[in-house]
Amino acid sequence: MQPRPWQQAWREAVRDPRELLSMLGLADAGLAISDAAAAQFPLRVPRGFVARMRHGDPRDPLLRQVLPLDDEMRAMPGFTQDAVGDGPARAGRGLIRKYRGRALLVATGSCAVNCRYCFRRHFPYSEETAAAAGWRDAVAAIAADAGIDEVILSGGDPLSLSTSKLAQLTDALAAAPHLRRLRIHSRLPVVLPERIDGGLLAWLGALPWPVTVVVHANHANEFDQSVDGAMARLRAAGATLLNQAVLLRGVNDNADALADLSERGFQAGVLPYYLHQLDRVAGAAHFEVPDARALELHAALRRRLSGYLVPRLVREVAGDASKRPL
Ligand SMILES: *Cc1c(COP(=O)(O)O)cnc(C)c1O
Ligand code: SF4
Repeated sequence: MQPRPWQQAWREAVRDPRELLSMLGLADAGLAISDAAAAQFPLRVPRGFVARMRHGDPRDPLLRQVLPLDDEMRAMPGFTQDAVGDGPARAGRGLIRKYRGRALLVATGSCAVNCRYCFRRHFPYSEETAAAAGWRDAVAAIAADAGIDEVILSGGDPLSLSTSKLAQLTDALAAAPHLRRLRIHSRLPVVLPERIDGGLLAWLGALPWPVTVVVHANHANEFDQSVDGAMARLRAAGATLLNQAVLLRGVNDNADALADLSERGFQAGVLPYYLHQLDRVAGAAHFEVPDARALELHAALRRRLSGYLVPRLVREVAGDASKRPL
């Protein structure tokens, strides 16, 4: 039997908060769902990810990441629309240059999942993706700048593009002789592991650069057998796998959850990379963990885990030359 195409799993994502709650036996759990928040940034979550949520638990850490709640609609001072300063850093359509040697390509605005804490809820993606400009401007800017040695495909989720679109892009990039590394930031290996199919692996394995895939899991429960399989296939195709997580109140803001995340990721062949303090985007204030608590948790991880299982605790500060260690 042919495996189901990933696009089908993509299309079948749950989009109705009430349907999600009834799937989890939580229809009467009194969760303060917000239609206004859902109108601003719709619920979207693949069914395979829902299957990893605990039935009957309104505090499930995966559910918390995707459910539009009343909390999001409370305006909080300091929480803004462009929290990471991407506005001024745009170096051309869909290209963001903040750090030395690296150019980040906003390959697409689409994601398989809508994460409530994400800055993407406010980013004017329809105009600002490299795909919208037919790649040309972004690729030309990269080709013209010998100071760029690493291209980072980001978004949105770059793996939401078809493999043929990705190949078109990397074929064009291959003409820039100064590129030495390709990096892909994607949540799809975790939220829609079906995406890591034969076609994608063939493309990945044939690229002329070493490839790093930075996945994004915030909690150990996001891993299951299907995710392990996707990670194993990516590694077999030669990719180096790293994880970045966001520290989120009510999701992973305790030492056990963070240690489990590192260990579970490692079991799947993924090393921790960054643990981010939240970007202060409007609607995400209820996820914020105070710096003092973040530092305490990080110290607990250092005491408890092998050094290579401790992520770097950072925050993104507009105008800085790198992510800023806390
Ligand atoms: C985070 C980021 C990078 C990558 O930074 P690393 O510290 O190398 O992971 C590059 N460009 C932009 C615009 C970024 O936001
Ligand atoms: S960019 Fe990443 S964190 Fe943001 S909504 Fe998409 S998958 Fe979630």
